[in-house]
Amino acid sequence: MTRHSVLSHEVIVVATKNAGKVKEFAHALQKLGKTTASLLDYPQIPDIVEDGETFAANARIKAKTTAEALGVPVLADDSGLRVTALGGEPGVYSARYAGEGATDGDNNAKLIRELKLMLANKEQADLGQLPDGSQLLSHAQFVCALALYDPVTGLFVEVEGTVDGVITDAPHGSGGFGYDPLFWLPGLNRGMAELSKEEKQEISHRGQALRRLLPLLEQA
Ligand code: IMP
Repeated sequence: MTRHSVLSHEVIVVATKNAGKVKEFAHALQKLGKTTASLLDYPQIPDIVEDGETFAANARIKAKTTAEALGVPVLADDSGLRVTALGGEPGVYSARYAGEGATDGDNNAKLIRELKLMLANKEQADLGQLPDGSQLLSHAQFVCALALYDPVTGLFVEVEGTVDGVITDAPHGSGGFGYDPLFWLPGLNRGMAELSKEEKQEISHRGQALRRLLPLLEQA
């Protein structure tokens, strides 16, 4: 990856249609003086089949497919939630946990349902409850794999970021997207959806991955 290949572009294309992710990338990239474009701006690009077994594999598929279609370097994010009591599910299926076309609300409802079922049937350590009475159901981790692909050099730059938390049985906050309302951060004593954009960027899996990626682009 040569320095001019991506950092010379005013507009960085991020291969996602997820409006929540687009907002977070736009917030981070504007600090570099860059504008963010996404697949929402390129409706002509057909849906990409994400059939990788890992977050990293899916990020590579999205970055390469989009970069080859547009002829410019493209950044892709594949991310999701690993829930300990569910053996790492929903993992790479996080976006469609409750089925194709599932909303965040559908996925969150399914997550609570599955965890309550699992905990009712198994001996699990009781993680206790929060002062507002909501139950702590399982340890969990958000994972974000980023891949940047340059169609001219054929090279990838890849990084990963994670953040640990606990899934609660009731939502906290209205910020963020996806599973954020159910993701409790014991170290901060707040929910992910209660954080401002800046605070989420500071601690999140995506924020960590971006902080690892940017120096690689500058040094390359
Ligand atoms: P992807 O677009 O296939 O990478 O799916 C990512 C899915 O993981 C999203 O639809 C969310 O359900 C979940 N996810 C990823 N990052 C976050 C986050 O920062 N907060 C909450 N949920 C997330």
